[in-house]
Amino acid sequence: MTQRIAVLGATGSIGDSTLAILAMHPDEFDVYALSGHQRLDKLLILCQQFRPQRVCVPTAATHDFAKRLQNAGLDTDVVGGETGLIDIATDNQTDTLVAAIVGAAGLPSTLAAARAGKRILLANKEALVMAGAVMTNAVKMHNATLLPLDSEHNAIFQCLPPEIQRDTTQIHAPKYGVRKLWLTASGGPFLQQTFAQMQQAGVAEAIKHPNWSMGQKISVDSATMMNKGLELIEACHLFDLSEDKINVVIHPQSIIHSMVEYSDGSFLAQLGSPDMKTPIAHALSYPERMDSGSQPLDLYALSGLEFIEPDLQKFACLRLARTAMQAGTQATIVLNAANERAVSAFLAGRIRLTDIADINEQALNQVSTGSLGHDADIEEIMAIDKVARKRTDTLIMKLA
Ligand code: NDP
Ligand code: MG
Repeated sequence: MTQRIAVLGATGSIGDSTLAILAMHPDEFDVYALSGHQRLDKLLILCQQFRPQRVCVPTAATHDFAKRLQNAGLDTDVVGGETGLIDIATDNQTDTLVAAIVGAAGLPSTLAAARAGKRILLANKEALVMAGAVMTNAVKMHNATLLPLDSEHNAIFQCLPPEIQRDTTQIHAPKYGVRKLWLTASGGPFLQQTFAQMQQAGVAEAIKHPNWSMGQKISVDSATMMNKGLELIEACHLFDLSEDKINVVIHPQSIIHSMVEYSDGSFLAQLGSPDMKTPIAHALSYPERMDSGSQPLDLYALSGLEFIEPDLQKFACLRLARTAMQAGTQATIVLNAANERAVSAFLAGRIRLTDIADINEQALNQVSTGSLGHDADIEEIMAIDKVARKRTDTLIMKLA
């Protein structure tokens, strides 16, 4: 049967890769709905190409966008804003949600999809950083399916036995022998540079990732290694483990996408070219396999695989993520919010790249520790997020 797919965040980098795969397999997948935020010209072209039944744009743009669709001869149903995203995510016709919005803006629709029992392909790691237990609990309670698109988590998922893939609480069963998870990190564009050089880096250098082509926010997060910090928190929630069971290792070639260490000494790894089409195709077709259109890995051309322990002074954001995870959900919400604000300030040329970690740390120091209940509502989470953003903006103002 055709799987009906909603791609929220269709105009972004994950959206591009997802739609490229969907275009290769028109008989298996139907592009049911799309969303965009600022790049509405691009969204219009996508609507012409994929002819979704529904599309979501910012509320203020709905009227104008509906007109543009009409002029293009399309009768796509247009919805607006956060309620529109939630409407699409929970729509009876939606089988699978590709959660590819960046940042906290992706949380409400992703959580709503979990509560509606959907199959969720998760790129939006911020949703788990902000609402980890709430999300995983909703997935369990409503029989939803959560499959990771983030390449590291997708790699780990692939290296785990099917019993744990189906029920991650089984990761604690001694018979499966899972000792540790190893998240690989490229180290980003500043791996070979000093902290002082990193301090002077402009936006163009910071977003020039050596191996992956990605959206701006995650590219800056890769440069500070906050991305790996967010991924550490994401992995704790996805695989039901505490942070001390998850190690991070820098692997500059980005060929091994992550590993699982077993009690008998085996390390299982997933390898591939650094191309998001591979994990996306894996999750779209899971438990089967299909062509992703990514370049196969040329093993003969590989000159060597390196593994380096991360420098937590230079990449303080990684240390902060562990601290936040130990402190609880309030802290991870604050860390995520502070980081989003600090990254925007850096992209706007207001602060230096290395100020991001300082600001994140100051924001974290203002949090009282504590976790939210599994059934915390989204308003509670968004309220903590909002206060943290305000406080962070004050910190940024003092610095800028
Ligand atoms: P992009 O910046 O390329 O795309 C982000 C998408 O979100 C765009 O469609 C954008 O719309 C939309 N968007 C932005 N702000 C809002 C908002 N306030 N409300 C609704 N929609 C919004 O990001 P990426 O594709 O790189 O990343 C998306 C997510 O996937 C992130 O959470 C990232 O961490 C994660 N991820 C990305 C990877 C990658 O390789 N790119 C790898 C692993 C995870 P528009 O462009 O129209 O403004
Ligand atoms: Mg990743």
